[in-house]
Amino acid sequence: MTNPSLWIDRPADEGPRVATPELRPRVAPRARRRPLRPARRRPWVVDTLAAVAGLGLGATLALGIAAESAGSLSAAGGLATAAGRLTGLVAAYAMVVVVVLVARFPPLERAIGQDRLVRWHRKLGPYPLFLLAAHGILITVGYAQAAGDGVLHQFGQLLWTYPGVLAATVGGAFLILAGVTSYKRARRRMAYETWWTVHLYTYLALFLSFSHQVDTGASFVGHPANTFWWTALWIGTLALVVICRVGLPVWRSLRHQVRVVAVEPAGPGAVSVILGGRRLDRLPVAGGQFLQWRFLRRGMWWQAHPYSLSETPDAGRLRITVKDLGDHSRAVSRLRPGTRVAIEGPYGAFTADARERDRVLLVAAGVGSAPILSVLGDLPEHVDVTVVLRGHSPQDLLLRDEIVAEVRRRGGHTHEVVGPRERVRLTAESFRRAVPDIAERDVYLCGPEGFMDGVRAAVLNAGVAPARIHFESFAT
Ligand SMILES: Cc1cc2nc3c(=O)[nH]c(=O)nc-3n(C[C@H](O)[C@H](O)[C@H](O)COP(=O)(O)OP(=O)(O)OC[C@H]3O[C@@H](n4cnc5c(N)ncnc54)[C@H](O)[C@@H]3O)c2cc1C
Repeated sequence: MTNPSLWIDRPADEGPRVATPELRPRVAPRARRRPLRPARRRPWVVDTLAAVAGLGLGATLALGIAAESAGSLSAAGGLATAAGRLTGLVAAYAMVVVVVLVARFPPLERAIGQDRLVRWHRKLGPYPLFLLAAHGILITVGYAQAAGDGVLHQFGQLLWTYPGVLAATVGGAFLILAGVTSYKRARRRMAYETWWTVHLYTYLALFLSFSHQVDTGASFVGHPANTFWWTALWIGTLALVVICRVGLPVWRSLRHQVRVVAVEPAGPGAVSVILGGRRLDRLPVAGGQFLQWRFLRRGMWWQAHPYSLSETPDAGRLRITVKDLGDHSRAVSRLRPGTRVAIEGPYGAFTADARERDRVLLVAAGVGSAPILSVLGDLPEHVDVTVVLRGHSPQDLLLRDEIVAEVRRRGGHTHEVVGPRERVRLTAESFRRAVPDIAERDVYLCGPEGFMDGVRAAVLNAGVAPARIHFESFAT
């Protein structure tokens, strides 16, 4: 935006530059669509979740503290053992919270958004692992002091003679492996599928660690009520994961029988996939959301990838637009009509309901224009819209013609910002110049990570409140 000559401002009365029949705008016929429960980020849900998690933590600490006595603490190794028990209990509880965050529980997904839930999962994830390591060390030291034994010998004793401890140690090793492979640098070096498979083992790890908690934990042995609540917590969490991550997707896939209808070119290295199915009007989906798509054909059936809707969902069809960034996204362009598709989702809170104001700025770069277009189509007619499309060249402005046509229909403005990054920067000043009332708007933002960071900083500096900046991250 430092070079205003590179801006093409397209006001309401001007038509799209190119309107080919394949790219003609499709505005979803809204009348047949079932009213959706809004996918809105709701602060009270976050507060309630935090309160419930806090209560659970309090109950867990109470379990640990109640199991100790003046006698047990003053005995040899008593303090280390008590600290070890407490860290073990808190680690196990934190694990439950970390798993619930990514259980894909629809009300949480709708109210908070998967990107935020995954961010919390990542932030919180390392702490149970630190606590787990502390638990192992403290318990071993405490037991060694009590027995007047060497730490290593005592460790062997614990492994071989205490019920469930060997399995729990193997489980702990899996958990630590999952943690290490999630570390940013390690993660970048490995294929997504490798990381995902390692992560899958965390469920096995949790399963392995459970029996030693209730069979040997001082808070549970001889305390049936405690054992009942702890078991219920773990079984409840397992049920939530199985229902939301397996049961619901299988049910929805069988119910809607989604199939590929057509694959159309959508720009350099990008295709749009039109999907049809049964009773799609009953799928609770909104523009801007994404699903995990598993195309059931050779070489693709074993992996599900997230792609956002690139069109406001219609009663009879869905559409995604995919840029070829790797094996899977490239293979999408070779899909044949009729290919069956298993779906998981919809997910995400990047929807028209997230906005607070009736003036909206939507900013897209690259394939980020996919959810931007489907949110745009879902905004109520009275909302004042301005769209900024950013690309290295005009061809990079994916779905441009449809966006321009829809903005024009609504009487809004489209700004096309084209040129290399070094010459054309999106700054607070250029946003203020192009969209003078930007501080009064909600901002929807989608594009590559670096682009989103830059635009987020710019619109914050331009006076947009953080709560009114909505973004969908394509990074995992
Ligand atoms: C919420 C969300 C919405 C998205 N919407 C779109 C969209 O509308 N259009 C589009 O073109 N792209 C979208 N993406 C990105 C798309 O999912 C990846 O480009 C695609 O999965 C890459 O897979 P690949 O095998 O082609 O590439 P790879 O070379 O395997 O991976 C390229 C990048 O994609 C990530 N990735 C790979 N597999 C997955 C997976 N199963 N789940 C999540 N990330 C993965 C990798 O970590 C890597 O950073 C979205 C991503 C997310 C998280």
